[in-house]
Amino acid sequence: MDAFDVIVAGGGPGGSSTATFLADAGLRVALFERERFPRFHVGESLMPASMLLLEQLGVRAAMDERGFQLKYGASFHDEETGGAQTFYFLPGQPWPNYSYQVPRAEFDTVLLEHAKKRGVTVYQPASVEATEFNADGVTVTASSESGAPRVRAAMLVDATGRDALMASRYGRRRRIPNLGKVALFAHFKGAARQSGRDEGNIRIYVMREGWLWWIPLAGGLTSVGAVCHARTVKAWTGELEALFYAMVARSRGVSEALAGAVRVTPVHRQASFAYDNSPVVGDRYVAVGDAIAFVDPIFSGGVYIALRTGQLAAAAITEAFRAGDFSARRFAAYERRVRAGLAPLFKFIHKYYEPAFFDLFMRPRNHFGIYEAVLNVLSGGNWVTSPLRLRLALRILYGLTRLNGWLRRRAGLPIESRLEW
Ligand SMILES: Cc1cc2nc3c(=O)[nH]c(=O)nc-3n(C[C@H](O)[C@H](O)[C@H](O)COP(=O)(O)OP(=O)(O)OC[C@H]3O[C@@H](n4cnc5c(N)ncnc54)[C@H](O)[C@@H]3O)c2cc1C
Repeated sequence: MDAFDVIVAGGGPGGSSTATFLADAGLRVALFERERFPRFHVGESLMPASMLLLEQLGVRAAMDERGFQLKYGASFHDEETGGAQTFYFLPGQPWPNYSYQVPRAEFDTVLLEHAKKRGVTVYQPASVEATEFNADGVTVTASSESGAPRVRAAMLVDATGRDALMASRYGRRRRIPNLGKVALFAHFKGAARQSGRDEGNIRIYVMREGWLWWIPLAGGLTSVGAVCHARTVKAWTGELEALFYAMVARSRGVSEALAGAVRVTPVHRQASFAYDNSPVVGDRYVAVGDAIAFVDPIFSGGVYIALRTGQLAAAAITEAFRAGDFSARRFAAYERRVRAGLAPLFKFIHKYYEPAFFDLFMRPRNHFGIYEAVLNVLSGGNWVTSPLRLRLALRILYGLTRLNGWLRRRAGLPIESRLEW
């Protein structure tokens, strides 16, 4: 049986980042990835603070060489009122005012190849099938085309994404609101593009039935996705592919830009993507990325969270090796840090579905630093720096939302949240 210090299950952004940071700290790391890369994956629009992490991983130059589409902003379009608002990421922050839009097949491959270069032993394709913990370590049994490798280490990292290997076997997956939504998405070639700096902006089109994403990728590709409310899916009697096109038809902006474009992938689907897993940490065990929780892709936070939790987990594990203590108690601070980092984004997502909040979001004013505070969350910046004035600004925004809700109720306008629709 091969012996390592740490075994990482999963080779997405969470697994690759954890493994690379651990290898950089001098630990012997084995990583198991079930799929052969490159493989398609949803989650193509990155938050600007990701760029900081790519630099810290030492993979930024390799990423720049790929020539990914740059994104400087995000525009939101209200299909019911015709309103539109573009947010540009702010310069002068500890992270750049732009990020990449990436085909994940390519992005994840670069990250995993980089982990190998830093000394991580990668078993691929190899699926982790069993984990056995005892007082002095963990044994992992995998299945692969060449047999069933068994590997031993002091620690296990669950980076298996939505599969959440450990929580689904030994823990629980908590239902959270927003669960019933279905996402349908595909890549198109030849869609109309904006020019100049706006070319790479992610565009979000909001309507009663759900919302659409528009993510321009390099090489003339565009990713288009429809996130449909559960009630939209329930009421639909036809094929889901037809629902995707019906959602596209609901937006004039998207339909016109897609006229003449050719779909070059199947229409993929992902259902019920909101959950909160436990345990996040245990004796000789921590989870990173989607294996912890996922609420909603509206603000494109998933990859950043995976990279960032990977960095935090690696730091906690490195400290555990120094102390020779791998107990759950030791990793409690990691879990607290992760929950504190997730909270502002998750709250923002929940609020986003309230019409009273959406009103204010679509007409932002920089009173009390609210605009800056919103962009801090949308950039992933709250994990890096979260000064009191920005936290207060968010409180003011939520206070104004309550006031706006009261005004809307008095005016007879809808106030019901669309989160559970
Ligand atoms: C509809 C939708 C749209 C999204 N859009 C965005 C977006 O625009 N921007 C963004 O940042 N995020 C987005 N996300 C979220 C993003 O996809 C995830 O948050 C991100 O991929 C999480 O990374 P991860 O490394 O934790 O998991 P993953 O990227 O899922 O990687 C997990 C890996 O583990 C492997 N694996 C699983 N089980 C095993 C096993 N037993 N053994 C070995 N390997 C295993 C899998 O093959 C996979 O490669 C979106 C999500 C959804 C549902």
